[in-house]
Parts: sequence; structure tokens; C-alpha cells
Amino acid sequence: MLKLAGFRWRERDGVRVLVGAQLEAEGFANGFSTRAGGCSPMPQEGALNLAGFNEDDAANIHENRRRFLKLFRGRWRLATCWQVHGADVRVVRGETTGALDTNEKRCDALTTDAPHILVGVQTADCVPVLLGDARSGACAAVHAGWRGTAAEIVPAALARMRAEYGTRAGDVCACIGPAALHCCYEVGSEVIEVFRARFPYADELLTPTREGHARIDLQRANRRQLAAAGVEHARIHAAPFCTICRDDLFFSYRRDKKLHGRTGRLLAVVGRNDERGTINAER
Ligand SMILES: [Zn+2]
Repeated sequence: MLKLAGFRWRERDGVRVLVGAQLEAEGFANGFSTRAGGCSPMPQEGALNLAGFNEDDAANIHENRRRFLKLFRGRWRLATCWQVHGADVRVVRGETTGALDTNEKRCDALTTDAPHILVGVQTADCVPVLLGDARSGACAAVHAGWRGTAAEIVPAALARMRAEYGTRAGDVCACIGPAALHCCYEVGSEVIEVFRARFPYADELLTPTREGHARIDLQRANRRQLAAAGVEHARIHAAPFCTICRDDLFFSYRRDKKLHGRTGRLLAVVGRNDERGTINAER
């Protein structure tokens, strides 16, 4: 595997995860999943499909999640949500008992400051963004497809972290995960018009292709929103992987739907390692 600025690979029993190095060094377990090492046929045998309960057997997804969570030291509870391509952010409380991955929460970002809870979002081309604030111990996982990016869900997550935990953007470290990148992600006029109406800099994000179409750079859009919200450029890390190009590593809704009629889901997770005050102590 090639060496990556800002990220490192971790592997166990054939399951590989991409870890944000700075986020980890600042006290947050985190990772972006990949496709191999699972027991699911979504889209082909051996897939580590980590979500999509209405398409795959729940038993497959639970087993794949168990294998994925083995990559993280210690005991973790996983919290996910029913994603609806909106801009709502939910808080996961540490005192909540029982399962947190019940998909009862309809939203597209989860935030917590409780230790040993991994908040996670599922993607297969959309942009996953992980946030960590080492000062307060708060973190967030954000699902930002084109709709969520247009609705500025990442700034919404930062605002919620500020309201709940006193997070200052200057203390935040951000990791933007593998997604359909500008090399491949062509959109039509309905998307182009939304971005042109909302963002004066939309043309920086759009590369015209054929009539009424353009390739869009959603990683850049989210990087720009993070910076505008006050996150330092040096603390924003973007994984240089396109889910559509890299069929060896990732699921892609666009690619796999065409090839197989179905796809698996990746999971991006982040969680606080220890009690408040002990962050950074171990590493
Ligand atoms: Zn690509």
C-alpha cells in the first residue's frame, strides 16, 4: 500500500481500515472502512458490507461490523443513523444504554463527547467527514452527499458541537474520507443549479463535461466549508481516493449498481478514546 499524507492503513484478519493519523494522535479512534474481508454478497462474495439492512441479511451486516470493530482497541459501542440526505445533526448521549445502532435516528450527522462510543455514517460515493475536538473531547461523523453538502451539513455539525460542547473550530481536526471524486462524479443541471445558487464559488467546484453536465468536487466543497467555519487548513485532511476509480478498495453506488445491480456500504467512524482529561495521555 502506498504511503499517505495524513492517513495510515491498519489491517487485521483481512479487514483493512484507513485511519486519520492526526485525529488518532489527538485521542480519537477513527477509520474509514474498505470492501474486503467480509461475509456478505453485496455486491460480490466476501464483501464487508457494513450497512443497508433492507438489502442484505442483518446477520451478514452484524458479522461484518464485528470484524470491523476488531480493528479498534478496547470496547466500543457503535451508533449509526437512518440517513436521509438532509442537514440534521443528532447528539448521542453516553448514558444511553443498549444498542445504539438501531437506525431510529433520522439524520445525517451524529455527535458525542462520551468515551467508547463510535459515531458512524454509511456511504458508497457520498463524502464522509469525521471531526474531533481534543479540547472538549467531542467528535462527529457526517454524511455529506451532494444534497448534504449543498445544505452545509458540515458547518451544521460544527455549530451543534459548539452549542453542546463549546467546541471552537480552531481546535477541530477534520478528515474527509474516500468518496466519488471530481475525476468521476458527473452531475446534471439540477445539481449544478443548486450549487450555483448557493455558493458564489461554485465554478471552482464544477468542471463542465457535456451539455448540462459537470463533474463536481465535493471533497473540495466540504474542505471549503470547514475552512470558512474556522477550521485551520493544516488540520483538514482529505483521503486521496475515489470510490468509483478504486474498485479494488471501495464500494461505489454508481459503479456497482451498473455492474451488479447492487452495492455494499462503507462505514466511517470516530470515537473518543478515554475519559475527559486523559486525552493524548496514552499516545
Ligand atoms: Zn474517480
